[in-house]
Amino acid sequence: MFATSSDIQTVIGDFRIDSMMRYSQFVPRLYNLCKSLGFGAGNIMPSRAFCSDESQGYPIILITKHFGTFPFNHGMVGGIVASDRHGAHADHGRDLVIIQASHVGYDADSKTFGTYRRINTADNDATVTCGKIGSVVEWYQEEYRFARNNIYLGRVGDHCLVTIDNQLLHEDREQGLFLHLDRLVRHDNGGPLPVRVQSTSHTYQSSPEFMQSLPADAWPDNDRLRIGHYLGPELFEFRRTIEGDIEGRSHLEQNLINPMPWIVTSTDPLLVAAQVNTQAEFDRAFRTIVREKAYQGKRVLFISCINIDISPRGGQLFPLTKCVPWAAYIQDGAGGSRTLEQDEIVNLLKQQSAENPDQIDLEDAIQQMEKVKEIRIEC
Ligand SMILES: [Zn+2]
Repeated sequence: MFATSSDIQTVIGDFRIDSMMRYSQFVPRLYNLCKSLGFGAGNIMPSRAFCSDESQGYPIILITKHFGTFPFNHGMVGGIVASDRHGAHADHGRDLVIIQASHVGYDADSKTFGTYRRINTADNDATVTCGKIGSVVEWYQEEYRFARNNIYLGRVGDHCLVTIDNQLLHEDREQGLFLHLDRLVRHDNGGPLPVRVQSTSHTYQSSPEFMQSLPADAWPDNDRLRIGHYLGPELFEFRRTIEGDIEGRSHLEQNLINPMPWIVTSTDPLLVAAQVNTQAEFDRAFRTIVREKAYQGKRVLFISCINIDISPRGGQLFPLTKCVPWAAYIQDGAGGSRTLEQDEIVNLLKQQSAENPDQIDLEDAIQQMEKVKEIRIEC
């Protein structure tokens, strides 16, 4: 999806997190939106493509309550859509809804993204959330940390110098962090020419653009400082051998690798990764829905979101999950279809009532099942 660096920057910048709404408002509004589009009460089969994390249970309970049926499962770990389940989903309802979401934890006390407090652990541990995204991002964060700590900036006379560890200069590596040397250091006669060659590093003159982009104190006189956070996302890329097919074991990593420089340099890497994954999954899954024969001639609403899991506090069983819608695709079953960008789908949802007279009482429904006369299975 993200072909160039500038694409990534633009698209992530357009994803507005402040468009969030509580799940208890989002689901009834989504249900009412479906009805306003002609979806028939009692004939809608919702489906969710959520991560397997138990924190996603509360949104699933709310979908069940408002749509009156337990949702079909379209999701793989990390919030990837399993498109080979489209046919079965289409068979299970007349009108069809798919809700895809990546998720990210939020700690309201520290006001930070990326962890979620697990009240079923012995010490109510806060763990990295989404754990799957966290485990993918970790390797890249380590590579970035090495680069930040092994590139130095300094000044001798009028010359701003960049000293780079040799490991970062080996072009024949199969994987790792690869610098965009043309942006970082000065090129003469078509290539970067080192002004000094040390045993484990090379020193170059800074490119004029990079030199001017930093404050003067980033270039200490006759001294050197680690590049640190001045190693911005436009200065490097990652290469890694990723094995696995589309929707296979490494699908999530494929979604994240090109935008990874923006993820690892962000102050909220797991939030940015969830944004990127949601954007990539919407773009990919919507095309599989359009092509799916089983969905043709049916009403379909597909929406992609981020679920923000706010850790439960004392006495709470569930997270206070918020939904940030990103985009939607709607087809009317009679040949008409459209995609809705974030502002459009958020406005459309906000126009809907958060009251849903069709919602079911789950406790009541469970009690009814307990009281009903037992059916004996002959065997
Ligand atoms: Zn997860």
